[in-house]
Amino acid sequence: MRVETRVIHIYGKKVVEVECPHCGKVQKVSVERIPLTGKEYRVKCPCGGTWAVKFEQRRHLRKAEKLVGAVTVKGIEYLVDITDLSISGCSFINKDARCKLGRGDTLHIRFRLDSDNAELVECSAIVRNTGEQTGVEFSNVPDRVKKILTFHFMA
Ligand SMILES: [Zn+2]
Repeated sequence: MRVETRVIHIYGKKVVEVECPHCGKVQKVSVERIPLTGKEYRVKCPCGGTWAVKFEQRRHLRKAEKLVGAVTVKGIEYLVDITDLSISGCSFINKDARCKLGRGDTLHIRFRLDSDNAELVECSAIVRNTGEQTGVEFSNVPDRVKKILTFHFMA
């Protein structure tokens, strides 16, 4: 039986559970014992079944999940899909044709991280590039938000 590779997220975990796709038996694997090479591993279950797993150690998977956010431009709020995030800025897809942005424009941006606590990030930003996606650089970032972003991107 051919089974597709299972991806197992290990960030922040001490033990992960690996379930056999053949018989459903769960094996507990200590994260300390997992060599972090990004390679696929073949796992063999006592039932005789084998399959491949890949251990994912990154905290934040870019584009794994789109973040819904809002930008406020000249007092009007528009919804955007944030597609890429870094400690100093982000890119988003502008979903509202009425929201016209040009390079150098300033706006206010607000979104929640896809972390367990869904922390709110809210600050001013300056438009750096436009096109299919708009790229902005955060500016006047409050200390609270700086802390949240720094923590979010700590490897
Ligand atoms: Zn099994």
